[in-house]
Amino acid sequence: MDFLKPRYTPMNRRRRIYEGKAKVLYEGPEPGTLIQHFKDDATAFNAKKHEVIDGKGVLNNRISEFVFQNLNDIGVPTHFIRRLNMREQLIREVEIIPLEVVVRNVAAGSLAQKLGIEEGTQLPRSIIEFYYKNDALNDPMVSEEHVTAFGWASPQEIDDIMALAIRVNDFLSGLFLGVGIRLVDFKMECGRLWENDTVRIVVADEISPDSCRLWDIKSNDKLDKDRFRRDMGGLVEAYSEVARRLGILPEQETPNGRGPVLVTSKD
Ligand code: UDP
Repeated sequence: MDFLKPRYTPMNRRRRIYEGKAKVLYEGPEPGTLIQHFKDDATAFNAKKHEVIDGKGVLNNRISEFVFQNLNDIGVPTHFIRRLNMREQLIREVEIIPLEVVVRNVAAGSLAQKLGIEEGTQLPRSIIEFYYKNDALNDPMVSEEHVTAFGWASPQEIDDIMALAIRVNDFLSGLFLGVGIRLVDFKMECGRLWENDTVRIVVADEISPDSCRLWDIKSNDKLDKDRFRRDMGGLVEAYSEVARRLGILPEQETPNGRGPVLVTSKD
């Protein structure tokens, strides 16, 4: 009975700035701000595989809020201002640098495939990779040489991006380790934030189970988007588990609109 499900209707009055595969950006309430809206759409293999998964957007909004708020709190600059509602957050408008910055701690995915390393092998040290954000080209891996030669980022900006990537990796590794999850790898994006006459690099986009590989420490169960990429099912349950362990989803609650959970007191 689909009509019984709570359906979110975005406010049409707002100007849509950009629509991506899993998110929409709307004009924000003040100049220099935007609203980032998380959809339920899941895509993989450059959108060749697509599905709508009820509740995914709500979970990613909540998990990404938690990560970005914590990064702000420890002095890692991000575009995040605050969460507005179940699916939306207020962010600072930045100029996105057209790179996907991937940090890896454990071999998995494309690295494991390309270099013939067994998935799950601990890497000798964390590795940072750059991919050029271009759907038509399938986001090819690029080197720092390409990044500077084609002017996507300056050498100083690359240094800043790498310093941010290491800080985010250290923070996320510790955060997840504390709740029994191994941070295998993740992707982040950066943007240029103008403040008066100065410009600085900040972490942008989202950090969620859509953009990280998260394995349960004991069982190695996948708690991330590989469940969708590899047709394993149970994606919302896995993302809910991540949120629950981080303490941001009350026990028992799922975001599918099953209604309030009765809380009883034992004393
Ligand atoms: N990733 C992402 N968006 C992309 C490609 C990769 O968020 O367009 C994330 C992915 O979830 C993983 C990490 O970046 O946590 C490394 O992905 P990999 O290069 O192994 O590619 P994949 O195997 O996902 O194609």
